[in-house]
This record gives sequence, C-alpha cells and structure tokens, in this order.
Amino acid sequence: MRRVPSVDELLKRPRIEERAKGSGRALVVAEARAVLDELRQAIRKPSGPAEGANQSINTASLADAAEEKIIRRLNALGSPSLQRVINATGVVLHTNLGRAPLSEAAVRAITETAGGYSNLEYDLASGKRGKRDLHAGGLLEKLLGAPAIVVNNNAAAIFLVLNELASDGEVIVSRGELIEIGDGFRIPDILARSGATLREVGTTNRTGLADYRDAVSERTRMLLRVHPSNFRVVGFTARPGLDEMVALGGELRLPVVEDLGSGCLYDFAQQGFEDEPPVVESLRAGTDLVTFSGDKLLGGPQAGIIAGKPEWLRRVRRNPLFRALRVDKLTYAALEATLRDYLFGRYDHIPLLRMIRAGAEDIQRRAERFVGGLSLGESISISLQSGESVLGGGSTPAQSIPTTLIRIRTGNGRSVARIEASLRQGDQPVVARIEDDALLIDLRTVQAAEEEPLTNALRSALGETNE
Ligand SMILES: *Cc1c(COP(=O)(O)O)cnc(C)c1O
Repeated sequence: MRRVPSVDELLKRPRIEERAKGSGRALVVAEARAVLDELRQAIRKPSGPAEGANQSINTASLADAAEEKIIRRLNALGSPSLQRVINATGVVLHTNLGRAPLSEAAVRAITETAGGYSNLEYDLASGKRGKRDLHAGGLLEKLLGAPAIVVNNNAAAIFLVLNELASDGEVIVSRGELIEIGDGFRIPDILARSGATLREVGTTNRTGLADYRDAVSERTRMLLRVHPSNFRVVGFTARPGLDEMVALGGELRLPVVEDLGSGCLYDFAQQGFEDEPPVVESLRAGTDLVTFSGDKLLGGPQAGIIAGKPEWLRRVRRNPLFRALRVDKLTYAALEATLRDYLFGRYDHIPLLRMIRAGAEDIQRRAERFVGGLSLGESISISLQSGESVLGGGSTPAQSIPTTLIRIRTGNGRSVARIEASLRQGDQPVVARIEDDALLIDLRTVQAAEEEPLTNALRSALGETNE
C-alpha cells in the first residue's frame, strides 16, 4: 500500500501536469483519485494471477500504471459516447443502431437550425407568436389528406391519445393485438398508465366484430386497433376488416384509433411487402385517429405522428400532456425535410427507402466493386453469395429482401469472432453478421460514403489478427 503514489506525485508527472493545464485541474484530480482508489482496492483484494505479480510491483511501475489509466479515462471522457456506426448487418431498421439514418436534406436542415435562433414558435409574417405544429403540419396534411401533430415517439402518441380520449373509461382491444414492441413497451401497460381501462376481447388468434360489439358498455370510450408489427399469427386466424370496425364505431359513436407502428408514406406493396399498409389507407377507411413512428419505415427522425379527424385531433392537441411530449426544433427540421422528399417523390433521397428499394443485382454490382478494391492478405478468402436482408425490429421483422452478401473467411484457424469483435471496437465501429464461421457483410445497409471507411476497418481488423 505504501508504494501507491499520492495524487500530488501523479500530478507532477509531465503528461498529467500537461493534461491538468489543458483539461481543468479539478477533473484531473478527481480522475487521479478514482484511479488510486481502484488501485488500492485491487491491492487489498488481489485476484488470481495478479497476486504473485503484485509482490514485484514497485512504486515506479504503480505510478506508470496509474498514469496510463488516468490518461485513458480522460481520453474516454473527451470522446463522444454516441458514435457513428457502420451497419453491415443488412438489418435495415435496427433499433439498437438508431433506426433510420437521416437524408442529406434532413441533416442539412438540422445543421442549419441547430446553431442559431429559428421561427419555431414565431410567425414571421405577423411578428407574433406562432405554433410549432405548423412546421411539419402542412406537409403532413398534404401527404395524408388529414391534419396531424407530432410528439416525441409513437409510444408517446398512443399514450396521449388514450389519455385524452379514454382516461375515464374503457378501451376495447383484441387479445391478438396486446403486443409488446420491445424493450418492455407493452400495449396493456401504456394503456393502464394512460388512465384507461383495458377491455380485452376475442382470442389470441381470432377476434370477430361481434366480440367488439358485445363488449361495448356505457363506459366504452374507444375501439383500438394495433398493427401487430413485429410478429405474425398464422393459420386459423381472423380479425375484422378496418372498414367493419369503422362502421361499428360510427354506429356506436365511438372513435376508432389505429396504432400503425411503422406508418408508411410509401406504398411498400410495390416492394412485395404485404404487411405494411400505407397511412393514407387507414385514414381513407375512416379511422378517426392513427398513430405511427417517424423513424421506422418513414425514414425520418424519432417522432410520433398523430393524424386524423380534426375534431378528435383538436382535443388531443389541447391535452396538457402534449406540452410534456412535444418535440424540439431539430426534430421538426429533420421531419420537415424528410416529408418534403416524399411530397416531391424523391424517394431515393431517403436512405431507408433507397436501401429497401435497391435490387439484389444493384447490391451485387456494388459488392463486386467493393471486393475488387479490398486486396486483403492471401490467407483470407472472399466470396459473394446470395442471401437476405431483413426489414428488422421496427416493422415486419421477418420480411426479407434478396441481397448479395460478401463472405469473408480466414485461413489457419483464425477466429471470426475475434475479427467481428475488433470491427466493433475499432476507430470506425462496424457491426456485421457471423454465420458458419464466416463474416458476412451486406452492403444494402452500408451507404456509398461509408464504403471507404468500411474498407479501412476491414483491412485493419483482418490485419490485426494476422499474428
Ligand atoms: C414501434 C411501435 C410502437 C412504438 O413506437 P416508437 O416510435 O418506438 O415509440 C408502438 N406501436 C407499434 C405497433 C409499433 O410497431
């Protein structure tokens, strides 16, 4: 213990002294204390093989080790925790990797808005207070044919709608739609927190219109329909058509609300995806309110959009919780830019749509070119094989898109797992798939500008493990 250096001794070391001048003395002292505490604890509780080594450790080597740790901690504090990652998995909507990458126009809009003041709630024409809703509202109304408001995410959207329309009564939901989205978000839980009471009807696989009708009482406030985004029940199944539910709602004077999950502004049926209906279809069928995400298949920033009939929407907008769930100027900037690309039909400007719409042969051409430029060592074998990309967690997860995969195998028993780990932990982190002892790269989710950094990351990860 006596060999452990003091904070003062450490601060006299040139590298640390220099950091104390540059990074603020208080921070460096705090990090030095923390490192010394860890050191003392490690000495008190020697674990395993380090025990013997401890005997021979002298003051100088302890101070060296402490210095190294302090510098490493300061470097970590100085670098962003949230980093750009190259998604080479082929999972287009990867919730863990931040869902939709934003378009160039959306990024530009954020950059231009972020550093200065803006007319977020200011009407430049009249010089008076304005409403933040306007910024995306007009575009949404044009695209959807119905007014819309924006909140923090789709979970917030559903919560707000339930709280406003049903907090003093019951909401009827089919048992087949009481889903969990992921990360503990469950429809029954959010419903309970909104103050509404859940009235489950039907069974897991079959619910009919009569089930809804039979459950209605004077306490019923809403018929809720949830798009079972992330799973599919197959076989002996039934659920009423949306038009039937809308008719029942009309007859009973109850609003019909649909949580669409992904919420497409693009018709993915062209892509052969049958499970992702466009938002306009739900609205055209007469749904009173629909809710959907901004950063799933829409390909924009994290947001929740509530659209529908003006009389219901006005009520939701006036709920005081709207204030707690509203979005900031940067979200409006990015959302507006994304919606404008939809309005003008510039689908390929939106990275997510570009990735989904690319054909297997497009990916194959890119993969051939990419592999041609890789020039890795001789013990590494690279081949192309056909495979599948998937839409991923925020939507129909198993919906696959044919693609071309780059398959990388290493000779002489080098572990693919180590290469994969080193790709993840490099200066430019890359996330890739492992299958049958090979590393799989799917360029579908890699943007053109990311190909060069990906090449460098691969070279470095495969080089590193050469020894
Ligand atoms: C994803 C999803 C949600 C939650 O949306 P977030 O934008 O992630 O909050 C709610 N309902 C359904 C059906 C979903 O698919």
